[in-house]
Amino acid sequence: MLDFLGSLQRTHMCGQLRAEQDGQPVVLMGWVNRRRDHGNLIFLDVRDRTGITQVVLDKEVSSEAHAKAEAARSEYVVAVKGKVRRRGAGLDNPNMPTGQIEVVASELLLLNEAKTPPFSPADEAIANEEVRLKYRYLDLRRPPMQANFALRSRVAMAIRNYLVEQGFLEIETPFMTRSTPEGARDYLVPSRVHAGSFYALPQSPQIFKQILMISGFDRYFQIARCFRDEDLRADRQPEFTQIDLEMTFPRQETVFRVVEGFLTAAFGTAGIHLTSPFVQMTYDEAIKNYGIDKPDMRLPAMVDLSSELTPELREALKIEQNLPVLGFAIPNAANLSGTQFKALVAEVRSFLGDSGLDYLDTSRLKSSPRFAPLEELIVQKLRAAYLAFLETASRGAKDDDLLVGVITPKLGTPPKWNHDPQWIYKRVGALRLELAKKYADKHKLFEQTGTAADFKFVWVTDFPMYEWDEETKTWNAAHHPFTSPHEEDIKAGRLTSDKGAVRALAYDIVLNGTELGSGSIRIHRKDVQAEIFRSLGMSDAEAKERFGFFLDALEYGTPPHGGIALGLDRIVMILAGATSLREVIAFPKTARAIDLMVDAPTPVSDAQLRELHLRIAARS
Ligand code: ASP
Repeated sequence: MLDFLGSLQRTHMCGQLRAEQDGQPVVLMGWVNRRRDHGNLIFLDVRDRTGITQVVLDKEVSSEAHAKAEAARSEYVVAVKGKVRRRGAGLDNPNMPTGQIEVVASELLLLNEAKTPPFSPADEAIANEEVRLKYRYLDLRRPPMQANFALRSRVAMAIRNYLVEQGFLEIETPFMTRSTPEGARDYLVPSRVHAGSFYALPQSPQIFKQILMISGFDRYFQIARCFRDEDLRADRQPEFTQIDLEMTFPRQETVFRVVEGFLTAAFGTAGIHLTSPFVQMTYDEAIKNYGIDKPDMRLPAMVDLSSELTPELREALKIEQNLPVLGFAIPNAANLSGTQFKALVAEVRSFLGDSGLDYLDTSRLKSSPRFAPLEELIVQKLRAAYLAFLETASRGAKDDDLLVGVITPKLGTPPKWNHDPQWIYKRVGALRLELAKKYADKHKLFEQTGTAADFKFVWVTDFPMYEWDEETKTWNAAHHPFTSPHEEDIKAGRLTSDKGAVRALAYDIVLNGTELGSGSIRIHRKDVQAEIFRSLGMSDAEAKERFGFFLDALEYGTPPHGGIALGLDRIVMILAGATSLREVIAFPKTARAIDLMVDAPTPVSDAQLRELHLRIAARS
C-alpha cells in the first residue's frame, strides 16, 4: 500500500510557495500535519521544516489521489505532485506565510505511515515534558523547536565566522583526558587497556587551550562540549557547549572587544543590534551598587543613604552608627493599598529574617519635626537615582511611581554575620531582586520589546582571587587556579600576607543578571603558578602529580595569555526567548541527568564490566 519515492524530486519546500507561483506545477514532500475530510474534498496540511502548505485532494481531479488521502493520517510521510492555486476570495489564511495559496494534487504518494503519535507536532503547547523528551523526534518536528535549532545553527555560524575573521583558529581538544580543575566532579571513562586507570571527560578545555598558546597558535577558539557531574539544578545540563577562546599577549580589554564582536554578530542573526563597548565595573562596584556580582542592569541600582542618616537620627532610630544604610527603587510599584503596603513590610522583614537588618520606616521620620526634612532628603536621593536610571533605560515613568525600600541594621547584639558590610550589600541586593520579581507586572522592565533594549550586558572585573571556605577553613580559587592575580598584589606579597585582599585578573560577562561566561588573564610564569598552587593548600608534590605536565610546559617559553568561555546554550536560549536550556539542546537530559529517549544511563553487561576490570559494589 505504501509508495516508493522512485525518481521523484521535490521542487519546493512547504514554506516557500506564494501567490506569485499561481499555476505552477510543483512537487512537495513532508509530513501530514493535519487532515480534514470534507467528503469529495480532503485537505492535507503538509509540513516540513520550512513551514506548511495546504494541499487539496479533489475526487474530481484524481480519485486515486483522493483515495490515498483518505488513508493518510497525521505524521504520514507524503509526496504531492500538483499545481499551485491562488485561494478563492476570502479564503486566505493570514496566519500562514503560504496562506494565499494551496496546491491542488494530481498525485499523492504515501511514502511512509506513522503510528498515532502520543502528541501531535501540530499542537502548540505540550504540557508533559517527559513525554516530549521520550518522543524527542516528534517534539523536534514542532515548528517552534525547528526554529530554535535553526537559530542555534545561525548563531554558532555567526560566531565562527567572526572569530575566524579575527584570526582565530578552531582547534579541537580531547574528550578523553584527565581531570580539569573547574570545581565540579568529573565524568570518568574506565580504560580497558590500562586496568584500574580512568580518563576524565573535560570540564572545559582550559589546560589544552593554554597549551595551544604555549604551542604558538596565537588565537584559538572552539565551540566545545564540556562535561560536569554537578548536582543538577533546574537549568543545568551534565554536558553543555561553550564558546571557548584563548589569545596571546592580551589585555583584558582585548578579550572584551572580541567577545563583544562575536556577541554582536550572534545577536545580529536574531535581528538584535547591540551597541558596544558594554558597561564595565569592578566586583567591588557591583557589590556596592547591586549587592551581587552579576548585576541585573534592567533595574535601578541601590542607593547608599548612609550620609543622609545623621548620627542623631541613627541614635533616635536605634540604628548602628557605622554600617551602611541602603535603599532602592522599584519603578511603578508605589501604588499600593494600605493593606498591601503592610503585607509588603511584613514580607521584607521576613526576607531579612534574623539577619539583624530591618526595614526603615520613613513614615516614622515624617512624624518628627526634627527628622521630617531628612525623610524628604532620603526620598529625593532615591528619586534622583531612579530618574538617572530612567534616562539610561530610556523608558517613560510617572513622577509618583516609586517604591522606597530602605534597610537599616538595628542596634543590639552583633548578628552572626559579624558586621561584614559586604554582607549587608548582598542581602539588600537580594531583596532588590526579589521585589523586582514580585512587581514585574507593574514595572514591566523584564518584558521583551524585541529590541537591543532588552539586553543589558555588563563586564564585571577584578574578582577576588580567593574565596574562604568556612566549612573546610581553606582558601579556594574563586575562578580556577590558572588565573593571574593583579601584578601589584603579587609584588606587594599579598598572596601570602593577605589572601582576602588579592584581586584576580578575572572577569565575567553578565546579561540581565545572568552570568554568560567568565575568563581571565592567565599565569604564564612557573614560579607564580607554583606559588598559587601552594597558596591554595596544594603541596608541590600534589601539584606535580596533578598538573606536572602543565608546569613543565610553562617552562618552555610561555607567552602571556588569557581568554574566556561563554555558554552557547544559554545565549541561544535567551535569543529564542526560551525558559529552559532543554528547548535549545536537541537531546538534553532531565534534571536527574537521564536521557529519556535513549534511556541512559543504563547498567552494562557483566562481560563489558569484566573487560574494563570493574565490579559493581551495589546497584541502586
Ligand atoms: N575554563 C573557564 C570556564 O569554563 C573559562 C576560562 O577561564 O576561559 O569557566
